[in-house]
Amino acid sequence: MSEVTSFAELDLPEALLKAVAELGYETPSPIQAESIPKLLAGNDLLGQAQTGTGKTAAFALPLLARLEAGQREPQILVLAPTRELAIQVAEAFQSYAKYLPQFHVLPIYGGQSYSNQLRSLKRGCQVVVGTPGRIMDHLDRGTLVLDKLKAIVLDEADEMLRMGFIDDVQVIMDKTPPGRQVAMFSATMPTQIRAIAQKHLSNAHEIKIVTKTSTVERITQRFVLLENNQKLDALTRLLEGEDYDASIVFVRTKSATEEIAVKLGARGYAVASLNGDMNQTHREQTIRRIKDGQLDVIVATDVAARGLDVERISLVVNYDIPYDSEAYVHRIGRTGRAGREGKAILFVSPRERRLLRSIEQATRQPIEQMTLPTGAVIEQRRIQNFRAELAQSIETQDLTFFQGLIAQWQETLDCADNELAAALLFMAQKDQPLNVAAQFPALREPSNKRDRERSDRPVRERGERPDRAERGPKPRREMKGDYTTYRIEVGKEHGVRAGDIVGAIANEANIDSQFIGNIKLFDQFSTVELPATMPAEIFQHLKKVYVRKQKLNISVDQGSTERRAPGPGPRPGAGPRPGAAPKRRSQ
Ligand code: AMP
Repeated sequence: MSEVTSFAELDLPEALLKAVAELGYETPSPIQAESIPKLLAGNDLLGQAQTGTGKTAAFALPLLARLEAGQREPQILVLAPTRELAIQVAEAFQSYAKYLPQFHVLPIYGGQSYSNQLRSLKRGCQVVVGTPGRIMDHLDRGTLVLDKLKAIVLDEADEMLRMGFIDDVQVIMDKTPPGRQVAMFSATMPTQIRAIAQKHLSNAHEIKIVTKTSTVERITQRFVLLENNQKLDALTRLLEGEDYDASIVFVRTKSATEEIAVKLGARGYAVASLNGDMNQTHREQTIRRIKDGQLDVIVATDVAARGLDVERISLVVNYDIPYDSEAYVHRIGRTGRAGREGKAILFVSPRERRLLRSIEQATRQPIEQMTLPTGAVIEQRRIQNFRAELAQSIETQDLTFFQGLIAQWQETLDCADNELAAALLFMAQKDQPLNVAAQFPALREPSNKRDRERSDRPVRERGERPDRAERGPKPRREMKGDYTTYRIEVGKEHGVRAGDIVGAIANEANIDSQFIGNIKLFDQFSTVELPATMPAEIFQHLKKVYVRKQKLNISVDQGSTERRAPGPGPRPGAGPRPGAAPKRRSQ
């Protein structure tokens, strides 16, 4: 792990440190510790890093630190291969820049209406994050001007190459002013990427987080492929369906340790959080409680769990993927202590698969994919546990008083033994129902649509352009008239991000993400543009979908504004016009 142990050691402005602290980041990830000082000093940078390593903050924080306040023209341009990534990166900038006055970041991608983008560009912004095709369009139209640009970032450069955007990237680079800073991040370094780096970067620092190989024995390692919004459900299933004595759950932020501990506590687990904010006494107390068996689960950050040695811990859950293989080895080493067997389970989202592979390479051990315990397994387990408790009561308790009552009730209630026992069982299991198979549907594995698109063929977003030679003159189809704006009852205060909304709607309504238009987040609710032709049954289904624990209760938006109190459900007749399903992606 790196020498830098706190963000304060990196020469970042107070406003950024405050935002980072609020996000619950404890320590810089290795790529952040290396990149931030170099980018802060104004150097060009070539970083080899995958998603999940913390690379977004590695470039966003130092570049934000170098912004000139009060200037409304774009100073930072980030190019990203997909709209999902563009949205994510823009959101990350927004959260890091929370305390920078008058800060605006604008995501620009194909499939979004031009008029909204034009309006936002006119209003002025310091950071633009976009997919190459749409950025080219705006440059050609003269609606995006890069004269004042101070830095350009190429994020996931190898993906942009694979998706056929690299010519556009080169043209955009040529249009940036001389002397601008360049940061280029790529998971792999194929020759074409190196060539671009050589052409456009000057005296670049190259950063690659070296992965030390180390082996871990006696620990069974598996992973679950899921979307971020499925993690909590997956965790509760694991804790119920797996055999273990005590468990440690690793997350990235202090706030997540608390949030998840509270949620598990509410579900009846003996759980506590362990993070860098706790003083030594409190930390020792928590460790003692898990050693004694007063606690069964602790939710911890890497820093807080360093050196933890508790024999009882036989299950490690990597709820958030670690930044690198070294952290992974350290985490899973919290189990398998004192020669015991241990199990480690890693949650991996589709975008983090590369990081999973590099962990496997570094540990020289395969991590096997697993499926989560099904509803039937959990039901069986609950029944077994109940039966065991029952047997113990029969064996150890003096039941004379209760037998007397039963005899009386049988008379007065005039029911069969069996019926009476069943009614008592029904009452006794209410807190943890026994017949739950139907309530635990199999967690749907994330559709690999995005992955397939990424690897098999060069896919363009709607509005993205073909190779330069094929390009005809404008104009491009405006999407505006095709959309209806809907209101959903989840907002910033529930911790929602645009990516969550895109993911939920894309999965639940089977609407390709390219048909999901502008998303606006308000405190209590959000608005989202969806095709006006969305069929009524999808609309009805979306009403019942939950995002960040909030029921979407989707309704046609009636001009929501920040000040308006959250309205009631949909108004009569406000549903969408039934029509053809807007399902597939047009090529
Ligand atoms: P990235 O690799 O940039 O996609 O980041 C992956 C995730 O790690 C994001 O959810 C970030 O919010 C989170 N993250 C990045 N840096 C840190 C940090 N230093 N501490 C905790 N979480 C972080």
